[in-house]
Amino acid sequence: MITNDEISNNFSLLAKLMDIHGENPFKAKSYAAAAFSVDKIATPLSEMPPNSIFSIKGIGESAGNRIIEMLQTGKLQILEDIIQQTPPGILEMLKIKGIGPKKIATIWKELEIETLGELLYACNENRLTLYKGFGEKTQQNIKESIEFYMGTMGRYLFQQVENFSKELEKLLTTSLPFSFQLTGEMRRQLEIIDSIDWVTNGNADQLIAFMNSIGFPLKEQNSFKISFKNEQNITVQFWLANQENFQSVLFETSCSEDFLTEWIKTTQWDKSAIYPLEDSIFSAYDCCPIPPAQRESASIIHLAKQNELSSLITPDDIVGIIHSHSTWSDGGNSLTEMAKAAIEKGMQYLVISDHSKSAFYANGLSIERVAAQHQEINQINQEFAPFKIFKSIESDILNDGSLDYPDEILASFDLVIASVHSNLKMNEEKANARLLKAIENNYTNILGHMTGRLLLSRAGYPINHELIIDACAANGVVIELNAHPRRLDIDWRWIEKALQKNVLISINPDAHTIDGYEDCRFGVLVAQKAGLNKQQNLSSFNLNQFEQFVHQQQLKRS
Ligand SMILES: [Zn+2]
Ligand SMILES: [Zn+2]
Repeated sequence: MITNDEISNNFSLLAKLMDIHGENPFKAKSYAAAAFSVDKIATPLSEMPPNSIFSIKGIGESAGNRIIEMLQTGKLQILEDIIQQTPPGILEMLKIKGIGPKKIATIWKELEIETLGELLYACNENRLTLYKGFGEKTQQNIKESIEFYMGTMGRYLFQQVENFSKELEKLLTTSLPFSFQLTGEMRRQLEIIDSIDWVTNGNADQLIAFMNSIGFPLKEQNSFKISFKNEQNITVQFWLANQENFQSVLFETSCSEDFLTEWIKTTQWDKSAIYPLEDSIFSAYDCCPIPPAQRESASIIHLAKQNELSSLITPDDIVGIIHSHSTWSDGGNSLTEMAKAAIEKGMQYLVISDHSKSAFYANGLSIERVAAQHQEINQINQEFAPFKIFKSIESDILNDGSLDYPDEILASFDLVIASVHSNLKMNEEKANARLLKAIENNYTNILGHMTGRLLLSRAGYPINHELIIDACAANGVVIELNAHPRRLDIDWRWIEKALQKNVLISINPDAHTIDGYEDCRFGVLVAQKAGLNKQQNLSSFNLNQFEQFVHQQQLKRS
């Protein structure tokens, strides 16, 4: 039989959803009042005579009838109906501290955001503060609560747990007399982390006692591995090894399954042999060392056997900031601040690509404001030469695949990045057609965040990667590797395909503040997985090379 608690919760949810949907506020209030009254009744409503329910203070006729419905059927039809009309992500938002129904209604109806991931991303892009009732403080609170809530799912972005893993490693090595070597997903630089792993020569009992003392109860234990999980659902695992097998355990736990299966097959590998270093494992099988980041596909083993691994791009190889926003659209820093910070980071140039005019939610640039921004850029360039700001735009790819300005305005930019920001709910056919049209536009130079995915939050729209890559190759369009740790879009798994077609990749931070420049590193880490070298990355071009690139691209326009 349905309990008072459940009845009260149903009313309370109904009231909130009615507010979110903008239904009659008096009705919503009466259900909220009913929830409150039911919550205070000690006697189970199911044991009360039906008539007496109507005489409870705070229960009107309509709420009384709903209670009887719930007592008889176990459910509340009007609630089920309204849930049906509410996207699941909107329902989830009710669990986030700091946003009530009114704010959720604004988020849904005005910002057109339907998932927590999108909302989090909007906070990062400073987008909420443009709306009434959302101050900077509210935005920050919402951001933190979402991050906390999403953390409870037990999967994390690499960037979210990187510092934590470093600090824990420091704590382990200073507190315990054992060796710890990072392995697993973190060592492989995967974009999503399910567990943080170390190989250790430590003693299991001592490890368990220590981990318990810092809030990590034991989750699982066998003779190879002990796992722990803390309150934030972070999983930490230790792979048990001794002096003799330390390197082979490290090797095996730093490979994907595909890779390891192929390795065992092609090398007949003897894991009981003693390898003084991990690299000795590779030399024992006439193979050049394969970095953990690249131990993903089986094919890399054959390349390594032929000594054909190219040197990987490193964070220091990024010499230009491509794709960043300023206060002209939704960025947090002025052009001058963005330029100064880029110079301080040793960058040779900055490509400013604020949002285009259709991106009203992001304060996109009207045609008049484009001209004004260009004037300001000219002034800054005079002041800061030889450092250079390039005039760019992140043009929305409109619903029909066209770009956001007439040709004569597009012609005023040094470079155009084309990205999809709206109408993301597309089937593959529609998405392909939309992207293809944008790629074939002579003004498009870079395809921004290819699928629009937000890791752990929103799947990208479906596309035919091969088709899109081929089109980029045919039209000389560069594919962005958006380095924001929640995007990392193009997925690194497709980069090799693009490189085979001689498509340039560009590791771009999509920075909305000067701090955003730091994200380039996350792009580099996944690019390493794909075997990218610096010659294949546009943001590694020096100023001179980049000027030439811009010049060549502009030849497409005539
Ligand atoms: Zn964008
Ligand atoms: Zn952007």
